[in-house]
Amino acid sequence: MNPASLGDALRAARSRLAQALGLDSGVATLEAQVLLGHILNRPRAYLLAHPEAALTDSDQSQFETLLARRERGEPIAYLTGLREFYGLEFLVTPDVLIPRPETELLVELALKLISPDSPIRILDLGTGSGAIGITLAKLRPLAQITAVDASLPALALALLNATRLGIPNIRFIESNWFSTLDESNRFELIVANPPYVAENDPHLTQGDVRFEPIMALTAGAEGRDAIRHIAHTSPHFLQPGGRLLFEHGYDQAVFSRDLLLSLGYADIACYPDLGGQPRVTCCKNHGL
Ligand code: GLN
Repeated sequence: MNPASLGDALRAARSRLAQALGLDSGVATLEAQVLLGHILNRPRAYLLAHPEAALTDSDQSQFETLLARRERGEPIAYLTGLREFYGLEFLVTPDVLIPRPETELLVELALKLISPDSPIRILDLGTGSGAIGITLAKLRPLAQITAVDASLPALALALLNATRLGIPNIRFIESNWFSTLDESNRFELIVANPPYVAENDPHLTQGDVRFEPIMALTAGAEGRDAIRHIAHTSPHFLQPGGRLLFEHGYDQAVFSRDLLLSLGYADIACYPDLGGQPRVTCCKNHGL
C-alpha cells in the first residue's frame, strides 16, 4: 500500500462519503474524522493539527474497511461502537437503538421531577443501551433505577455500560415491558423511549435506521401499540401521584394526550424537542 498522509486520507474519505451517502461536505468531513480518529485512537484536534502524519498500512486498511461499511449505510455509532448521550459515553451495538439527541429532552424533564436528595424509585422501560436509566442514575445518585428490556443482548450491553461508567444504583431485569415485574413494587416515576414508528413508515427503509433493531422502532400499524400498553399498565406500577414520562412521534402528541385523559391521568403536558417537534409527554397517575 502507498504510504498516505492523514490529510490525504481524510480528503479522499470525505469525497467518497459525500458521494455515496449524499452528505454535505461538512458532515462528510466530520464522519471521516470520527472514523479515522477512532482507528488511531486520537481526538479530532490531533487529526487537524497533523495532516502530514503518515498512516501505517494497518491504519489504512482498517480505515478502508470502515469507510466501505459506512458507504453501504451502516451508522457511524455501530462502526465505532460508541455514542455520546447527555455527556456520557455509551457502548452501542446493532442490538440497541442508537441514543438520539431528542431523547436528551426526556432525561432533562425527568431530572426536573427528581429532587437530588430524594431516594426515588424509577422504572426505565425498554432501556436498550441503558442511556436513559444510566444517565438518571448517574445524575441522581440517591435514586434507585430499575431498567427493563425484552432483549437479553440489549440488557447485557446496558449492564456493561453501567459497569463501565461506575453506576451502582441501577438494576437490570429481563421483562417485556411490565411482564416480569411485581405490582407490589411501585415507582414514583416511569420513563420510556418506546418504539413508536408506524410499521410501514418509509423512513424505516432509509439511512441509518435500516440497521437498528426493528423491535426498538416499530409498534403496530400506526406505531401506537407500545405507548398504549405503557399508558394502560403504568397505573398498576406507579405510586399514587407518580409520573409517567415518555417519548413519542412528532405526530403523536394529540393521540397521547387523548389516551392519557381517557385513562384518568392528570397534569398532562407535552414538550417540544430542539427541532420544535412535540416529542415528550409527561403525566401524573390518578392513583389506583
Ligand atoms: N426517533 C426515532 C426515529 O425516528 C424512533 C425512536 C423510537 O421509536 N423510539 O428513528
